[in-house]
Amino acid sequence: MDCLFCKIVKGEIPSNKVLENDNVLVFHDIQPAAPVHVLIIPKKHIASMNDAADEDFALIGEMHRAAQQAAAELGISDSGFRLINNCGRDGEQTVFHLHYHLLGGARLGALTG
Ligand code: C5P
Repeated sequence: MDCLFCKIVKGEIPSNKVLENDNVLVFHDIQPAAPVHVLIIPKKHIASMNDAADEDFALIGEMHRAAQQAAAELGISDSGFRLINNCGRDGEQTVFHLHYHLLGGARLGALTG
C-alpha cells in the first residue's frame, strides 16, 4: 500500500520519533505549526476517523494516552496543548492514515470558523 505514514511506521521513510510502542508511533511534524507539533499515528493503517471500525476504538484510546505521554515528554503538560484530527475534505486532511496533531508550546488562540 502506498501510504506515507505506513512507510514511516516501517522505517522506509525517516522520522524524528518522540515515542513508540507496539501499536502507536509519535513523531515530529516536518512542517511544525507551533513550537511543539507532533503527530500521533496508529501503526495499523486506518485511512481516517470516518474509517475507524468498532474494534479500532481501543486503539484510538491508546493514541490519546500516547498524546498525554508525549505532552509530558515534551514539557507541555502544565501549559496545555491542542489535540486535533483533520478528517476528510472539509477537515483539510492531506495524509489518509489516521493521525492526531498535538500542538503546544505557545498560546494557540481561539478556534475560529
Ligand atoms: O491533517 P493532515 O493530513 O493535513 O496532516 C498531515 C501532516 O503530516 C502535515 O502537518 C504534514 O506536515 C505532516 N507530514 C509529516 N511528514 C511527512 C509528510 C507529512 O510530518 N513526511
